Amino acid sequence: MTDKLIRAIAADGGIKAVGVVTTDLTEEARRRHKLSYVATAALGRSMASGLLLASSMKKEGSRVNIHVKGDGPLGAILADAGLDGTVRGYVQNPNIELPPNDLGKLDVGRAVGHNGYLHVVRDVGYGQPYSSTVELVSGEVGEDVASYLVTSEQTPSALLVGVFVGEMGVTAAGGILLQIMPKASRDQSLVDLLESRVSQLSGFTPLLREGKTLKEIMGQLLGDLDLFIFPEFHQVRFNCGCSFPRVLGALKMLGEAELQDMIEKDEGAEAICQFCGEVYQADETQLTQLIADLRRE
Ligand code: ZN
Repeated sequence: MTDKLIRAIAADGGIKAVGVVTTDLTEEARRRHKLSYVATAALGRSMASGLLLASSMKKEGSRVNIHVKGDGPLGAILADAGLDGTVRGYVQNPNIELPPNDLGKLDVGRAVGHNGYLHVVRDVGYGQPYSSTVELVSGEVGEDVASYLVTSEQTPSALLVGVFVGEMGVTAAGGILLQIMPKASRDQSLVDLLESRVSQLSGFTPLLREGKTLKEIMGQLLGDLDLFIFPEFHQVRFNCGCSFPRVLGALKMLGEAELQDMIEKDEGAEAICQFCGEVYQADETQLTQLIADLRRE
């Protein structure tokens, strides 16, 4: 199964729906960052939420950053998702493992922490990014992002995100976002309907694991409400914009004295990208070249 995102409308254009499968990209994040089970679930939910939010942006190059900062042992989580379907992210303490919660599920809420903040930044690529902060509701990520949509963006929304990770790694991940369109936002019966539909679902990953496709899941939720699923599939994937030239650019900013010090003490420099875990090595010759560049400027 390949990761993808689909969009749909229902209820005479009153409901907008987006669904995303992120199984492969969540597995890639798990492997890159050597994430524990609970860290995989927390980051996977954050990345799926980011992709769902980014999918509603209009301008090419738009991105959404979801920053979860709770008081739990995982520390901060950052997911950076683009309208182009790329996403990357990391967890501050990727090794933390916790016993399952009362429902026998990965205890994301306790790992993230029940107290803290969710910070969302929408960046269209120019001007001041739009950013907003809400208090965490539960630390389960999905509920926190849904609360952000309702309180901060004032869009009645229902969001379901999930990650199933076992001994074989991530075998199901993704989510679904249902929103009431502005023209129907005063229609309380539609809002109630939306919430009841989502709460009837046993979760997103159980449906995926049963072999249901995104379209079938959409159909199960909204099939009786004039559902129209747009035929295009949008690919989503883990992708980080880091590169060796960018790492060299960052090293250059350290200045001549620091670079000279790296040459003398370490005979080079090693940089690890926080977002994707990629390791970059700059040797003595490359660092010397950076110093030469600095002197020419
Ligand atoms: Zn990177």
